[in-house]
Amino acid sequence: MPEDRSAISAGSRWRVTRREALAAVGGSAVSVWTRSGPAVDTAATAGHRDGLVRIRVYPGAVPFRARLRYGLGELRGNWPPPFRDALAAIEAAFEHVLAYARERSRLEDLAVRVDRAPPIRVSPSATSLSADSVLPSLEALLGRFRERVRNRGALTGRTCHVLLCWSPLNYRVGYGGTLAPNSVTGLDDGGDGDALTVANVGATEVWDSRAVTRNIAIHETLHTFLSDDVVRSIGDAYCDHELGTAVRTAENTLRISPMATAYAGPDRIGGGTRFHGTGCYDHDRFARHDGHDGIENWAYTIEPSETTREGVTRHLERRFET
Ligand SMILES: [Zn+2]
Repeated sequence: MPEDRSAISAGSRWRVTRREALAAVGGSAVSVWTRSGPAVDTAATAGHRDGLVRIRVYPGAVPFRARLRYGLGELRGNWPPPFRDALAAIEAAFEHVLAYARERSRLEDLAVRVDRAPPIRVSPSATSLSADSVLPSLEALLGRFRERVRNRGALTGRTCHVLLCWSPLNYRVGYGGTLAPNSVTGLDDGGDGDALTVANVGATEVWDSRAVTRNIAIHETLHTFLSDDVVRSIGDAYCDHELGTAVRTAENTLRISPMATAYAGPDRIGGGTRFHGTGCYDHDRFARHDGHDGIENWAYTIEPSETTREGVTRHLERRFET
């Protein structure tokens, strides 16, 4: 994807996403301009605007030693290269979804914004010696994340909050995830409309590759845009992961789309991603799975499968257009 940081450049007083800019130029959709300063959390007001779905991406803390991997120039700042790339991947994924929808004259009045949010430090409790304070479970991490977001007044009822964390050794969080009742963006019967999800960029960077980092960042974000009713309405899929694809592009190469990420290979260490996902999946029910016999190269793409694009489109239609 071409680099275009205009949508999220720190310090810009007026910000507009590339999607919105394209929509404004093409005149095919409502363009939404939001006034915001670099250090001000504007979610509480801007998120209520009709036709706007927001994804706010929060960088977590990255230890000094880990930053050295990216050179001396990255010892400061909140957005080291893997975080920047994760954010760009999420943006690109939604561009794919909206392009798919608009080719079919759907979601024409809906805008999606992906924003950099101020950093979130989810530090261990200084007074507790419980396992959750040393090595937080996904549930504990999401709980603390939600607390921070709520304290900032950033809950809007229609925003997806994504925490990019750096916990390569935290097997309890794994590559990340989201949990009910805050696992769906947009109002439904169980949640309050704000979804929270975690992508463990530290794990994908240390154990896998930048391509897996991008793929997982999209994966954990799109989980919150794939409600159960939508997933069940698509083909044979029973769970979100089956909307992904694993396509054999050469005799020994498998190309894997975001929702299939850690589920496309055999259930063993190093079968595709270093660690296999622990959620549900069945290769026979994938939108497409060409089998992994003889596969030596695992290629991870940022392009959601057509089935995934359809799923996210339906979700946006059902939760944001009615
Ligand atoms: Zn998943």
